[in-house]
Amino acid sequence: MHELGIINGVLDASKKAAVDAGATKLVAVSLSYGEMTEVIEDALRFAFEALTEDDPFLKGATLNLNIIKPKSRCLDCGHEFEHDRFHVCCPQCESPMTQLLCGREMNIDSIEVETPEEGDNKANR
Ligand SMILES: [Zn+2]
Repeated sequence: MHELGIINGVLDASKKAAVDAGATKLVAVSLSYGEMTEVIEDALRFAFEALTEDDPFLKGATLNLNIIKPKSRCLDCGHEFEHDRFHVCCPQCESPMTQLLCGREMNIDSIEVETPEEGDNKANR
């Protein structure tokens, strides 16, 4: 499953950043992805739950998803427009010659962590 690999990479990077910051727990991850990546939201959430479940550092973390709408520029008339995965023709001149400007990205926007100093930590007191 494609999504499992993505989430695996996201969690690896998030965990590394959290540990580097001295965190004791990962609380949340915000992820942006373009609609054109053809990633399925439910599959992402499922993979996230499956992969965080058995790791005490990750368990209970939440996944925030921000879906980026695809945007293209018409190569004939220069019009820029948003569209969905299946309609990429220019709405102005109906040209099929378009260039994708965004919609294929996959980024970690931010992570939220719990650190010992911030309290909320019953175990170490
Ligand atoms: Zn056009």
